[in-house]
Amino acid sequence: MLATEVANELGFDIGNGDFKTLWSMNILPKWKLFLWKLLHNGIATKVNLGQRGIQLSMICDLCGMGDEDNQHLFRFCEIAQQVWRNGALVIHSEFNETMSFKEWFLFYIRLFQRQDGKNSPRCIYFISTLWGLWLSRNNHIFRKEATTVSAVLAFIKIGLDQHGILQDQRKPFLRFMHTSEVISVFPPGFSRVILVGAEDHGPITTIVIDGSWHKNTRNAGMGWCLDNQYTPSDRILGGAQFGYADSALQTEVTACLLSLRWAAEAGIGRVTIFSDSQRLVDLLRSDDVTDIQLIWTLAEIRRIAKNFNWCCVNKVDRKRVQHAHDLATATSTLLLSFINFPSLSSCH
Ligand SMILES: [Zn+2]
Repeated sequence: MLATEVANELGFDIGNGDFKTLWSMNILPKWKLFLWKLLHNGIATKVNLGQRGIQLSMICDLCGMGDEDNQHLFRFCEIAQQVWRNGALVIHSEFNETMSFKEWFLFYIRLFQRQDGKNSPRCIYFISTLWGLWLSRNNHIFRKEATTVSAVLAFIKIGLDQHGILQDQRKPFLRFMHTSEVISVFPPGFSRVILVGAEDHGPITTIVIDGSWHKNTRNAGMGWCLDNQYTPSDRILGGAQFGYADSALQTEVTACLLSLRWAAEAGIGRVTIFSDSQRLVDLLRSDDVTDIQLIWTLAEIRRIAKNFNWCCVNKVDRKRVQHAHDLATATSTLLLSFINFPSLSSCH
């Protein structure tokens, strides 16, 4: 079905572009289908099934307190309220209770897209939260698994990871860039892991990374940027992304992954990552990581490292990564994300 048909059926004015924009977002196809069903009352909630003539109790299985329709399941159910409050967006889903589910949904999508752009990371997190609530509810009903806030947050994380993979596959092209920076002096106490390559084949681009993590909200900010301290402009070449993490270490490992994706997309051939985390280096050296939260990300780092002729992660002093630290702190507090690539004119 075309976006215009969907929009018309839902009674939205396509002229204002809201729904069209939602539909053109770069998100997982299964999320698009899910959203379409959700906004079309096509999700098999108990109330929807009941309205189709199926005989069953309409009471929500998670709380036993209300009829299970979209509004209840995704906003007002106690577990949903806790998930929204504890998620990276810190939304109080019970506020504005007179808004219909659809109105409430579009309110946030419009707000985030207006502030962050079409592919707003907050929209992605918002959609991933709805998806996580739905998966958790199904697991509860069909597999008798307990629905807890942390279980839903884990589903959200999986959704965000899958979304990350999707973004990665859609890399439009590789850019070419060489910098003349050669790092020859390392701070005392440095340690490193060489993931790929040999050391004696020319200049290496250095990227500084850092993670910032808030224990109570679990908000995470990952920052990275080129270590050129004397660029001609003030423009930061790098990026920052907010998200959700279970630990400071997970945040640091994710920052490493994001920086390598960025470097691959920027066409950098030989890269050294500077991090102030000794544990990141230790994890990358180890063949025996048991923390399941980290296994996937570490495997992805190793996979992406194969794109480079040289890829190394160095432990450095905290002061050395100050620029990345500032980015990470800002993004974990403001929930803002950005990404900048070196312009073609700066490539030689
Ligand atoms: Zn409920």
